[in-house]
Amino acid sequence: MLMGHIPEDELDSLTRSLLLPSPGRGVYARTALFEQVIEGLTTFISRHREPETQVLRFPPVMSRSELERSGYLHSFPHLLGGVSCLKGSEAKIRAVVEQPDWANELSATELVLSPAACYPVYPLAAGYGPIPASGLLFDVASDCFRHESTHEIGRFQSFRMREFVWLGTPGQVLEFRTRWMFLAQRLAKQLGLEHRVAPASDPFFGRGGRLVAMSQLEQSLKFELLVPLSSKEEPTACMSFNYHRDHFSSAWNLSTENGDKAHTGCVAFGLDRLALALFKTHGLDLGKWPTAVLENLSI
Ligand code: AMP
Ligand code: ZN
Repeated sequence: MLMGHIPEDELDSLTRSLLLPSPGRGVYARTALFEQVIEGLTTFISRHREPETQVLRFPPVMSRSELERSGYLHSFPHLLGGVSCLKGSEAKIRAVVEQPDWANELSATELVLSPAACYPVYPLAAGYGPIPASGLLFDVASDCFRHESTHEIGRFQSFRMREFVWLGTPGQVLEFRTRWMFLAQRLAKQLGLEHRVAPASDPFFGRGGRLVAMSQLEQSLKFELLVPLSSKEEPTACMSFNYHRDHFSSAWNLSTENGDKAHTGCVAFGLDRLALALFKTHGLDLGKWPTAVLENLSI
């Protein structure tokens, strides 16, 4: 046990009551108790949705070609999971499934597992035509997959992400992000969560990726809201505030009404991590949670 880390058995009993392990590491069945809080969080976040927001709920899979075009493949190939199927005649498939190494016969389909909820939004918005002067705001959510290399508490392979996404001018996007960085801290306080907001970078692939991550930090493109989960010294990212500049608009030719390249940004909530942080902070007995927190979660 490292200094400042929460004892393993405490974490064990926490997860045992909330998440039932499966043979897939970082993949869990969620108990009714856990889901009650997830539902509360979902409603709580919805209550803070801004006017004129378009709500979309995505399935856990998305178009492989769209994810490629968004640049994910080269930035995070180590985290990506694809959907593969057995193809061919009935006779071929019948023969393949009899083999112990049948999985070697899987071939890629047009689908991948969504690594973040906002990726399908940009191609969709590109289909709407130029972005109106007032900007476009989306509320999106999906189950996400990341092929994580470690599976400590709070690091799932399959988890739920909710996001607000802004497309518009650089000024609008930055204002949206700043607004949410403040609001998110107020929300964390209303949930009784100890927290801080800190600059962050994404886990870009390989040696080249480290340079990209450094430049992301230098340009203040990403911040995270951190909450102690398994360690006080190394709190866990439960929300992120991202400014993509023109990354997605270049990939998808997104422009504003006056022809300028659009900028985009998103605010992401890791629902499973937020729920775990709530249980870690307030305990497993909802009856003992602060009344104000329960009220905010509509429990
Ligand atoms: P990101 O796109 O990495 O900023 O992720 C957005 C949010 O999703 C993070 O702030 C986390 O709360 C959550 N998240 C990211 N990766 C995981 C994971 N492996 N397991 C659970 N939640 C995650
Ligand atoms: Zn996003």
